[in-house]
Amino acid sequence: MENRFAQRLLDWHARHGRHDLPWQHPRDAYRVWVSEIMLQQTQVSTVIPYFNRFIARFPNLRALADAPLDDVLAHWAGLGYYARARNLHRCAQRLCEQNGDVDPVPFPRQLDALTALPGIGRSTAAAILAQAFGERHAILDGNVKRVLSRHIALEGPPSRADNERRLWLEAERRTPQTHLADYTQAIMDLGATLCLRRNPLCERCPVAQDCAARLQGRQHELPTPKPGRTLPQRQTHFLLLRSEHGILLEKRPPQGLWGGLWSLPEVSDAGHEALAQALSRHTLRLIGEPRAQPRLRHSFSHFHLDIHPLEIPVREDKSHAQGVMEARETLWYNGADPEMKARIGLAAPVERLLNRLMNTGEAE
Ligand code: SF4
Repeated sequence: MENRFAQRLLDWHARHGRHDLPWQHPRDAYRVWVSEIMLQQTQVSTVIPYFNRFIARFPNLRALADAPLDDVLAHWAGLGYYARARNLHRCAQRLCEQNGDVDPVPFPRQLDALTALPGIGRSTAAAILAQAFGERHAILDGNVKRVLSRHIALEGPPSRADNERRLWLEAERRTPQTHLADYTQAIMDLGATLCLRRNPLCERCPVAQDCAARLQGRQHELPTPKPGRTLPQRQTHFLLLRSEHGILLEKRPPQGLWGGLWSLPEVSDAGHEALAQALSRHTLRLIGEPRAQPRLRHSFSHFHLDIHPLEIPVREDKSHAQGVMEARETLWYNGADPEMKARIGLAAPVERLLNRLMNTGEAE
């Protein structure tokens, strides 16, 4: 049964699979690793341009390790889940430290060594080993979980511990002895292109003939969703401090929400005292009436953040140099400077707010 599953998938992949993805040419461990991390939570079509830009700037582990984190985050901006970029950078630095002057820096080839690195789980490690080195390891990412949950008509949510154990066993049983790179790509492609979350295209599926969900007519209701939960809402205020130089941005601390990215000064309430403190912290003076901007909602996996932007015309009390003021971790964002955006990683809602201002011609 498992060989038939793998064989059908391989035959289908040879005819219909994706063979022109940029990380397949060449398919080395560094490129597969970067692509696998980018593909977590993100679709292939979105990832491709990011991957190409990232690899052009950081072609190998050494180049990534030597780059400033700001530069890495700037190349990630827009992909979201920034911890992934910080982990890539930390991984590269750790591997370079461990290997001294060895050039090129070798990528680990053991599952345990890979999963010990930041941001690499069991499935990602397996995907790297299978695709880059042709080693036999089963993968179980979100797409594969959906395919297998349907193929065996799994009862209950795939994330339940007993179901997760069963899915790993099913994944291992189906993994063939040879053609590991193609099989791994094939099962990921099946989930991404045919066994879709909504409206799976079963009539074109190579494993439809023994898919239990399809035979039972339950492909639309499986996998069983997690019990619903209402996400909590949090409120915050972003200050758009606007001077003749642009909008003031601050660099976030390396850990936590949007760690290491550039963001707007944030206050928990927009009362007089909080604003006065924010202005004084940046040695700025109010020169007009603050103006509330429309609310912006940014949703994370575990809560909704309602952002209330407040635009405030200001002037510097002391002279500041325009551009990046590294020591103070602040800068004046000038939307008319095309290089500035490429140089800094912006938190996603900040980019939306700045674009909104740009469109009204006020961020310049
Ligand atoms: S037959 Fe349909 S539900 Fe079953 S694996 Fe194929 S696409 Fe998914």
